[in-house]
Amino acid sequence: MSLVQAVDPVARLAEARARLKAATAEAGAERDVEIVAVTKTHGPEAIRPLLRAGHRVFGENRVQEAEAKWPALKAEYPDVVLHLIGPLQTNKVREAVALFDVIETLDRPRLADALMRQERRPTVFVQVNTGEEPQKAGAPPLEAEAFVEACRARGLAPAGLMCIPPVDADPAPHFALLATIARRSGLKGLSMGMSGDYEIAAQLGASHVRLGSALFGPRG
Ligand SMILES: *Cc1c(COP(=O)(O)O)cnc(C)c1O
Repeated sequence: MSLVQAVDPVARLAEARARLKAATAEAGAERDVEIVAVTKTHGPEAIRPLLRAGHRVFGENRVQEAEAKWPALKAEYPDVVLHLIGPLQTNKVREAVALFDVIETLDRPRLADALMRQERRPTVFVQVNTGEEPQKAGAPPLEAEAFVEACRARGLAPAGLMCIPPVDADPAPHFALLATIARRSGLKGLSMGMSGDYEIAAQLGASHVRLGSALFGPRG
């Protein structure tokens, strides 16, 4: 018998769903929160059980890694909705737009321009660097509203905002800040919350949570 308990992502997804239901009920209004199953570092054999169970919303943080596994899976499951949750370089836009249905990491005018030049138009979220960390992507919080407006002026209407709070910080103020900016900008989408803090994010208004290790176990 193995000492390592096999991880069952389908059971874990059901558990996360139940926890999200409870978290939103506790916050005063039970509602559905979309789970983006983050499959980075995991191969098709880990992903397939979720697809067979009917899950369709997935996330990857690197264009190249996603290109290695998702075209085949999307051919099999055409209704998959694939989110890019990692930084996007302008020279990778064409490839990203061909594969991803949602780009969560729009954070600068040059990237908005590059996206506008593509024929295919994925849904976009504006990433906000709520912790103003120099090494992290995202529009600065004080410039986020103006950037959303600048995107709209280009004809690229964002569906929401996304953030990744600093690793060691209490995430709640970051989620609250993101929700405030979204409200001011008239945006409904809020991609916030990962495996360690998704219930807090749901209580603070998340429309999407991005779960990797909560579903698949720790990444090796
Ligand atoms: C890896 C990743 C996640 C998932 O992280 P977990 O803590 O494993 O849930 C979520 N969002 C982004 C942007 C990531 O890169």
